[in-house]
Amino acid sequence: MDKREFLKTSGAFLAGTMLSPLAPGEQPGPARTNWSGNYTYSTDHLYQPETIEQARQVVKSCSKLRALGARHSFNGIADSTENQISVTHLNEMVLDREASTVTVGGGVTYSQLAPYLDSNGYALHNLASLPHISVAGAIATATHGSGNKNGNLATAVSALEVVTADGAVVVLSRKQDGERFRGAVVNLGGLGVVTKVTLDVQPTFQVSQVVYENLAMDQVKEHLDEIFARGYSVSLFTDWQNHRITQVWVKRKVEKGSTPQFAPELLGAKAATRRLHPLAGHSAESCTEQRGIPGTWYERLPHFRINATPSSGAELQSEYLIPRERGYEAILAIETLRDQVTPHLFISELRTIEADDLWMSTAYHRPSMAIHFTWKPEWPAVKNLLPMIEEKLAPFDARPHWGKLFTMAPSQIKPLYAEMSNYQGLLAHYDPHGKFRNRFMDTNIYGA
Ligand SMILES: Cc1cc2nc3c(=O)[nH]c(=O)nc-3n(C[C@H](O)[C@H](O)[C@H](O)COP(=O)(O)OP(=O)(O)OC[C@H]3O[C@@H](n4cnc5c(N)ncnc54)[C@H](O)[C@@H]3O)c2cc1C
Repeated sequence: MDKREFLKTSGAFLAGTMLSPLAPGEQPGPARTNWSGNYTYSTDHLYQPETIEQARQVVKSCSKLRALGARHSFNGIADSTENQISVTHLNEMVLDREASTVTVGGGVTYSQLAPYLDSNGYALHNLASLPHISVAGAIATATHGSGNKNGNLATAVSALEVVTADGAVVVLSRKQDGERFRGAVVNLGGLGVVTKVTLDVQPTFQVSQVVYENLAMDQVKEHLDEIFARGYSVSLFTDWQNHRITQVWVKRKVEKGSTPQFAPELLGAKAATRRLHPLAGHSAESCTEQRGIPGTWYERLPHFRINATPSSGAELQSEYLIPRERGYEAILAIETLRDQVTPHLFISELRTIEADDLWMSTAYHRPSMAIHFTWKPEWPAVKNLLPMIEEKLAPFDARPHWGKLFTMAPSQIKPLYAEMSNYQGLLAHYDPHGKFRNRFMDTNIYGA
């Protein structure tokens, strides 16, 4: 349905911002792109309802539609050739102290949620490397931070409210809906428009972050588990050169008011005495505080500060999750490609994620290690490298991050998800005519 047709047929709520394009000044012109600018959406029809009722009307009136979050995915997962809907105006946040949960509107970002929770004495269990993404968008792709005992961000979800293809408002909860709920949380945007998410919260906590420089890869060989167990959340950065980890970021929970001590060395790597950016030579202005100085959870768990832009956005990203116990083997496999990879790479990051039971989660039933690549914006070269990386990681049954760039064929992806056919069944149940299907879903979920 085009915009004119929609205006004609739905008189009741046409005024206001519902049919307006993105906010004035945000992105002028018909071409709208994702955050990085590497992907241009295939439609200029963007609906921005202000209420759930308006969202229902949009869903009912479109034959094809896709929800758009904060635009931080690097591929076409949020794209549509016909219509997109952004629920950014659904931004209420309601804390339930008794249940230890917070319920947020489908448009709320972690940058909005984290300070709200903290000011009320609460915290989430973890955050991604940056807080600017939406909760609904993050859970849809199994976005994760790091930490052996930390599930991805979707594991905090205890209930979802979704407007499904027929305009119905469906609520699914961990308590009531068992398997159906577990299929719906990491939903890849395919189930409908998420208008509310309820998340588990816990009392606020303090974290101190220390960055260690130059860890020999031979230490990683002997002590990988120990290194990842050094903190509540640990990240290893490498450019794959010189058989070393360039930086280890260790984030530890600490008591409020304490002066935490930290080891000046980690297996020979030295604690940095100044704040560092993961990329050598880049200003650390946008990075969260380090040097062991304690701060509240949301100012330490992400690598990048809430009120800073992590980079210009001129970058590409790919990431693969493999079984944690085979971490070092997988590192060695990628290291063999170092001379092809490094020239096109800004940096790689290794993180750990606890296993979960969410059907389409990249950590489904598998304690995982993620191997991440932040690429220079050189797609022709990166596109040639990805199949080489994927071939190296195939023996590890690597699952690609749903929101990043990959070239694996659907025939390789499908066997990695034991519940794939049940997920297809769930989609067929809530979206029998494929209203929310897009090219990404046609390829990766339904393709051969
Ligand atoms: C600089 C940068 C850093 C990143 N760091 C990390 C990281 O640390 N860890 C990690 O795992 N990933 C990371 N990512 C990837 C990012 O977290 C994911 O791509 C995430 O899905 C983006 O969320 P978003 O709000 O931008 O959603 P979008 O990219 O806009 O959409 C993602 C998916 O969510 C769906 N969706 C969005 N909103 C709704 C809704 N209301 N209802 C239904 N479906 C919806 C879309 O249809 C789409 O399928 C990073 C990305 C960037 C650009």
